[in-house]
Amino acid sequence: MKLLVTGGAGYVGSVCAARLVEAGHEVVVLDDLSTGHSDAVPDGCRFVEGDIAEVAGSVLSEGFDGVLHFAAKSLVGESMQEPGKYWYGNVVTSLRLLDAMREHGVPKLVFSSTAATYGEPEQVPIQETAATRPTNTYGATKLAIDNAITSYAAAHGLAAASLRYFNVAGAYGRFGERHAVETHLIPIVLQVAAGQREQVQIYGDDWPTEDGTCVRDYIHVVDLADAHLLSLQQAVSGEHRIYNLGSGTGFSVKQVIDACRKVTGHPIPALVASRRSGDPATLVASSDRARNELGWQPERADLVGIVQDAWDFAQARQEV
Ligand code: UDP
Repeated sequence: MKLLVTGGAGYVGSVCAARLVEAGHEVVVLDDLSTGHSDAVPDGCRFVEGDIAEVAGSVLSEGFDGVLHFAAKSLVGESMQEPGKYWYGNVVTSLRLLDAMREHGVPKLVFSSTAATYGEPEQVPIQETAATRPTNTYGATKLAIDNAITSYAAAHGLAAASLRYFNVAGAYGRFGERHAVETHLIPIVLQVAAGQREQVQIYGDDWPTEDGTCVRDYIHVVDLADAHLLSLQQAVSGEHRIYNLGSGTGFSVKQVIDACRKVTGHPIPALVASRRSGDPATLVASSDRARNELGWQPERADLVGIVQDAWDFAQARQEV
């Protein structure tokens, strides 16, 4: 297939683009490099640098079989302080992309949605039928796009899937997490092991969980990328399918830090700090729908293995 990957210079987008190229697809990456890196675009992809809202139409006019839409603003804190950046950058941009796809007859879309569309869950593990009550602007914008895709699929025959990611982690060779502003737990903890930070702050140890720290579902970025390929292959015209993607097991912040100590051999000093606003205590996915409908299976769910891949990537980056 000939595929457009928006955000293919970013973390998940670059891993997915690399897997698509390996699977024999023709891949064009479109990225404005606002947070991505041109050297993260995998070999074998054609790279177009540009703003999706402006250039999606001209790029798609070449004719494509599908779009994988990763490009987005994704910092929760920033989304609360600068909501316009998220409503325009995520929602308006995605509407332009949907219209360009329609205009040029591109039949398939896989969209990067998020567990943040659910907000504070009533039940864990979280199923796709759970209420969607996002607690931050980032999640609200992703939910708005999901809703737009549902309408476009029903009205215009688009074949679409939204994948609701839980906590993506790990790396794939030279493709991994390289955020200018790092907020995610595993890369932050590994920065301590690499000597780039003094200590890690644990955001609260008085949560209603076994060890008092927040529990999250960490999914290996390669397992996640593979779900994109499966949902693209199985997308059906006129339908918008939604899948939660996690490994189905929760790990606490303390367990993550311990896994990082084990992998790096570094003591990793940790200090308990106050809670971070907007954090739910526990987020764990039910990925039964993805398993049953897509035949997807997380193959790299072991936390130590996930951290090992992230650590190998971080160390290789230090040598660059
Ligand atoms: N966390 C932490 N210290 C940090 C960064 C994150 O204790 O320096 C916690 C955070 O409160 C959450 C978990 O680690 O409970 C995962 O946070 P992350 O930002 O990686 O992902 P999120 O679940 O917010 O999408």
